[in-house]
Amino acid sequence: MMRNVRSTAIQRSILVMVAVALAATAAYSVSQQGSKQSSDTIAREYRASGPTLSLRLSQPESGVITGATVQRNPSTGRIARVRGETPVPGARTPREAADRYLRTYARVLGIAPNLRDVQAFFHNTSLTGDHLRYQQVVNGLPVIGATISVHVNKRLAVVRVNNGTVSIKAKAPAARFDNRNGAIGAALAALNVPGAPMAAPTASPAIYNDSSRPVPVWLVHIETREPAGSWEILVRESDLKVLRIVNRARFVDGDGMVFVPNPVTTSGQANLTDDNDADSPALNNERVAVKLKDLDGSGFLQGPFCSTAPTDMQPRANEPSLTYNYLRSDDRFEEVMCYYHIDTSQRYIQSLGFTNVNNRVQGMNANGSTADNAWYSPGTGNILTGSGGVDDAEDAHVILHEYGHSIQDNQVPGWGAAHEGGSMGEGFGDYWGVTSFTGIGPNSPAWDVYVATWDAVSYNPGDPAYLRRLDSPKHYPEDMTGEVHADGEIWSACLWQIRDIVGATRADTMILESHFYLSPDAGFVDGATAILDANEALYSGADQDAILQVFVDRGILVDQRITKLSAAYLPCSAGQSVMLSAVLTRVYNGSPVEGKDITFSVAGTVIGIATTDANGLAEQAYTIPLATPPGDIPYEAVFDGDADANASSANAALYVIKLSSIAGSVTDSGA
Ligand SMILES: [Zn+2]
Repeated sequence: MMRNVRSTAIQRSILVMVAVALAATAAYSVSQQGSKQSSDTIAREYRASGPTLSLRLSQPESGVITGATVQRNPSTGRIARVRGETPVPGARTPREAADRYLRTYARVLGIAPNLRDVQAFFHNTSLTGDHLRYQQVVNGLPVIGATISVHVNKRLAVVRVNNGTVSIKAKAPAARFDNRNGAIGAALAALNVPGAPMAAPTASPAIYNDSSRPVPVWLVHIETREPAGSWEILVRESDLKVLRIVNRARFVDGDGMVFVPNPVTTSGQANLTDDNDADSPALNNERVAVKLKDLDGSGFLQGPFCSTAPTDMQPRANEPSLTYNYLRSDDRFEEVMCYYHIDTSQRYIQSLGFTNVNNRVQGMNANGSTADNAWYSPGTGNILTGSGGVDDAEDAHVILHEYGHSIQDNQVPGWGAAHEGGSMGEGFGDYWGVTSFTGIGPNSPAWDVYVATWDAVSYNPGDPAYLRRLDSPKHYPEDMTGEVHADGEIWSACLWQIRDIVGATRADTMILESHFYLSPDAGFVDGATAILDANEALYSGADQDAILQVFVDRGILVDQRITKLSAAYLPCSAGQSVMLSAVLTRVYNGSPVEGKDITFSVAGTVIGIATTDANGLAEQAYTIPLATPPGDIPYEAVFDGDADANASSANAALYVIKLSSIAGSVTDSGA
């Protein structure tokens, strides 16, 4: 039998602190529309000084504690884990064994030998031993997330210690803790959720460890229904600044049936028809069973990254069993599609390493319009899918196209103020709608380039029908039409080619990373250079030439390394000393290239090497042999090229005439 001992109210409140520490592994910051700025600040502060998301430990060491090995937290050097049997002579109870052990090893564990900075608060007994948990305190206040547990076996030997105490290197500032209501008000303002709390918020004094400095804080607890949350909010006592927001609500998985991505792609059948949303075995058989992750347990489709709460034109899916197996004729099927594909896409983004790319609850209004159109609203941050033609949300290409707009607006508020930015928005949306769905269905890879293969059957012919494609031959700027979706095909084609070169994972990562560097008025050139810079920073510029060539071939960028060398025809006479010259410039803007070595040859023989000056000019002296008859002597200037400038060469001639007949010069050049 298990036995729990937790008697006093103080002990219960300390338990909440532990729960906060545990929940920190699933922490995410709030990013409601309208509070972006403050949330961002909070999130940054959280990353800078909050608990680590996963504790990495050093290799086990022995010889520190008798009979045991220890592992350290590499970032602090403190012992975090002790494992092995260490007897505690003379102990008569588990509590006595744990206390004596802590006193004996206090210094190596980094706590006070008289145990004044830890308080036992929780003790339970299992089949094989006793488990005693201590809360670290400063001035009698709990240090948030800082506990140490001592595990004692039936022989009253300590077999394991988990040490989460922290080094506190300063005195805690004096704190009166006399403005509880102010703290709750600040927490509510920072949380900024639409509905009222489900119960009166509470606040209790605590200490926040900010890089070994103790900061007195209020720990505020707020329960909300929409969005579902059990929020722990840290508010600094001195100025009521919100330091951290954590949702410690537990989420559960559900089950559902969806298309991945749509029935045309998975079946390879281009002749499937909508038939006014009617059921058919051909369509329903294309559904697959999926897990719907981290639902909040309310029965509605809502979790950490998606909620169908904005759905207002039909009764929302509400399944207390958390099983959502609908036929495609059921309008709630589209809600399941929305939840599954948005949630999966956000998890994919996070798997690439991004913690702040649209990391929020994406609101989805499924079948919110009878039009055959879907859109993302920068005003609400929500996506609406229409029910005209094929229901938009029956095609994951369409859902994720709209999510692409939401991603960009989240990365760069106001994305797409200029026409080319709007076109990049459509192009990225098409790319994002498809990049996770290649290699699916019997007609892959041939059909991988088509966007919205199911949605398009109601308005386009074709085998298969499609809305747009990712392999357009359109060239910039002459194929621009002024319509963002059409012009977006120029951009999506570039992204698709890059994906071919570097693979989906690298392409998706560098494209998302590049968005951060753009402004609302960005154009294709900005987008292209941002991708090149992202590839340089993330992957040391691997495949950089090939990626650059994509944009050069598309007409968006010029290769600034291409050079042109010009040399002059030179009239001269036998026996004369002349100066051979060549000028090196960059083709894209005609600017001179300085400091490059130019090799001069006359009639095939190298006569010298000269370096270009600030005007790109290289000069080499040469004396015409006395016996030279009138006529041309060919000479050549060659630049071998380097990392910064491509090779080029020029051919010209010394035009040997009688001295008296020199009248002028003729120039020519070659690249
Ligand atoms: Zn769009």
